[in-house]
Amino acid sequence: MLIDLSKILVHEGIQQKAEILPEGDKFSCKLGDFSYADKFPVELTIAHTGNQILKITGEGKVSVWIPCSRCLEPVLHTFFIQIDEEADMKLTEQERIEALDESNFIQGKQLDTERLLHNEILIRWPMRVLCKEDCKGICSRCGANLNQGSCDCDTADLDPRMAVISDIFKNFKEV
Ligand SMILES: [Zn+2]
Ligand SMILES: [Zn+2]
Repeated sequence: MLIDLSKILVHEGIQQKAEILPEGDKFSCKLGDFSYADKFPVELTIAHTGNQILKITGEGKVSVWIPCSRCLEPVLHTFFIQIDEEADMKLTEQERIEALDESNFIQGKQLDTERLLHNEILIRWPMRVLCKEDCKGICSRCGANLNQGSCDCDTADLDPRMAVISDIFKNFKEV
């Protein structure tokens, strides 16, 4: 969604409110495409604090299905979005690029809400997502989800490092 900022820029001290939603049914980034679960409106406030400076604040949440890092089962992950940005509208597009300004959500005299939300989700992207703390993952040989039971793969020639661990477990059982 594009919000026209030309009116608010004429008057200092005024603000404008908007409810924004992520567009489409997937969040797409370099990591892949992730389906949105529920969409809740993010309440946005754009305030002209003076001297062509806009303060953009907002709060809301976005839920996305992300595969478990170990077993790849989809896990519902909710991002709590808290927007707190400032945009100097005096800068030209070129000056913005040169200043490495991250407000790429400003396009001319418009606010691109999709880019704004995209940035906010991306900076909060989790390092890893687990369906549960002790997820057993998938068998590296047959791909079976080991949370649903063990597979029939011969585990005798395990990775030697893993064999040491299984020996330790055997010893524990014997004690
Ligand atoms: Zn898992
Ligand atoms: Zn297996």
